[in-house]
Amino acid sequence: MKNNILVVKKQHWSRRQVLMGLAGVVLSGCASSLYTPTDPATLAKRKINVTTTVGMIADIAKNVGRDRVNVTALMGPGVDPHLYKPSARDVNKLTSADVIFYGGLHLEGRMVDLFEKISKSGRPAFAVTADIDPQRLRTLEEENDEHDPHVWFDVTLWMEAVKKIHKELLVLDPEHSAYYTQNVADYLQALAALHEYAKTQLASIPKAARVLVTAHDAFGYFGAAYDIEVKAIQGSSTATEAGAKDVQDLAKYLAANQIKAIFVESSVPQATVEAVQKAVRARGWEIALGGELFSDAMGDDGTPEGTYIGMVKHNVDVIVKALK
Ligand SMILES: [Zn+2]
Repeated sequence: MKNNILVVKKQHWSRRQVLMGLAGVVLSGCASSLYTPTDPATLAKRKINVTTTVGMIADIAKNVGRDRVNVTALMGPGVDPHLYKPSARDVNKLTSADVIFYGGLHLEGRMVDLFEKISKSGRPAFAVTADIDPQRLRTLEEENDEHDPHVWFDVTLWMEAVKKIHKELLVLDPEHSAYYTQNVADYLQALAALHEYAKTQLASIPKAARVLVTAHDAFGYFGAAYDIEVKAIQGSSTATEAGAKDVQDLAKYLAANQIKAIFVESSVPQATVEAVQKAVRARGWEIALGGELFSDAMGDDGTPEGTYIGMVKHNVDVIVKALK
């Protein structure tokens, strides 16, 4: 009996491996075949198909393109972009798009090669961070001086990503440029108000209590923009794990400074945050889990947190409530 089960499992795996192999062929094949762009006059008569990686970028495309675009995001709520591996279906969504927008700066660590192939094929594919002045980007010493990809945490930096998408839509569909330009003006105004909201709310937390501890180092821009000290258990990519010493060092700091709460991220497993909580308790300080933050993925569609503005507001409100 046991033997039979083993055989069945073996067949299952080998079949899966064959399928994965096939997907690999499809991945490299479609992505590198030469692309003939649709001419603007034809594109002006139908909706533009936009494919993005994370939901935050999809949200920009919807706000700038509104009725002119069909937007597909590859990564939904709770999905971690650092670890995301594209499926053959994803490649289809990318290679049927009129334009592709992704984060860049190695946010989508396992898709870098794929984007390179797609770009070489001539299909319009843009990193939304491409036009940001490098001086405004955080440099990560532990990642060989690469730049921190989590730019959406500073609303004013994310406004640069909005401008990039606007710019590329104008190139693709110049006939509707007035429409896009009006939409982008409205959206940038809403984002400016969001930035002020975050600044005012977070300033209401006493300076000594203004310490944000999260699972992975995504909130660096947030800390710099809104004057809050940021500490993380893992590095800026979830691909590297935190060691036992990292957990103990952080626990020591949190207990010594009597920090009230640490936070869980919707796209990162809770285990590391709970390990820190346990280690802080062992040092005689009761620290709470301050609630769930949306870091690298937005909330569910149809909820306020399913939009970029709602996600930022949610994070600000959860942080203020837990630390004030
Ligand atoms: Zn991240």
